[in-house]
Amino acid sequence: MAEIIMKAKPVVDELVEHIEARIDALHKKGFSPKLGILRVGAREDDLSYERMALRRAEAMGIEAEVFEMPEDVTQEQMFEKIAQINADDSIHGCLMFRPLPPHLEEQPLCDALLRGKDIDANSRESLADIYGDIPCFCPSTAEACIRLLNFYKIPIAGKKVVVVGRSLVIGKPVAMMLLRRNATVTMCHSRTEDLPATMRAADIVICATGRAKAYGPECFAPGQTVIDVGINFADGKMCGDVDFDAVEPIVHAITPVPGGTGSVTTNTTLEHVVVAAEIAAGIRPSMN
Ligand code: NDP
Repeated sequence: MAEIIMKAKPVVDELVEHIEARIDALHKKGFSPKLGILRVGAREDDLSYERMALRRAEAMGIEAEVFEMPEDVTQEQMFEKIAQINADDSIHGCLMFRPLPPHLEEQPLCDALLRGKDIDANSRESLADIYGDIPCFCPSTAEACIRLLNFYKIPIAGKKVVVVGRSLVIGKPVAMMLLRRNATVTMCHSRTEDLPATMRAADIVICATGRAKAYGPECFAPGQTVIDVGINFADGKMCGDVDFDAVEPIVHAITPVPGGTGSVTTNTTLEHVVVAAEIAAGIRPSMN
């Protein structure tokens, strides 16, 4: 049995406890943190994430406004909407659901959002800052991985970390964030040779590939910490990239799916809205 099941709930509870006091301080200064959500079309996974984010935002006392664009929205109309969000001082942070429909060019739209409102680090500017160790909002999922490690007191400095998956959303930024914390990071992907042996040699393994239950006991060793970022569906149930039932008895600590990284991610995004509002209110210095 793993010594630690790295559940999201206590991590989120601690985050929320601190956020409520910070929101009170903002209200006293006449600021009300507000999230903008920019959604194109009505994909079920976007809607389900949106419902959860709105529910959590309301519970925390964060306002939210959804900007719904039709499926056939043009690139120009998207730029106009982003310019409107940028100019709206009442919106402190904005989340744009991706992937966008294929007729839209995604990166220029991500780059159009003001750096201070880019709470999920979608723009090239934010990503460059992460690589340059310059303070900025980090992608919420990558930050959620670090938050879970910190909360459960898993040492990072000097440890061997294997990150499986190299997307700009998770794999690459989390690798950089771990490197900044003095981990020795190995990045793996679909062309990595003998992936199980590489994974077994790590102290910490982060799986972010979107392959349901693909990583079983052959990939893990006693004493390891496993952060499962994958959100997949198999047999009608949500599951991670790791075969939890088979791996949990082997390792030291592991995140469950659901109830692990996903929930910490949503709450981290909302915390970023509070940080953006604090900067706007002059409670904390600008990140520039
Ligand atoms: P991408 O599809 O963008 O990237 C997947 C990565 O996995 C790629 O780098 C790919 O390698 C790698 N990969 C694919 N097959 C293999 C393989 N056989 N062996 C090793 N590596 C492989 O996915 P995302 O990064 O966007 O998402 C990954 C997962 O995280 C998904 O399940 C997604 O749903 C989930 N997710 C979870 C969130 C959370 O809050 N917990 C938030 C966002 C996403 P290559 O580059 O070589 O193709």
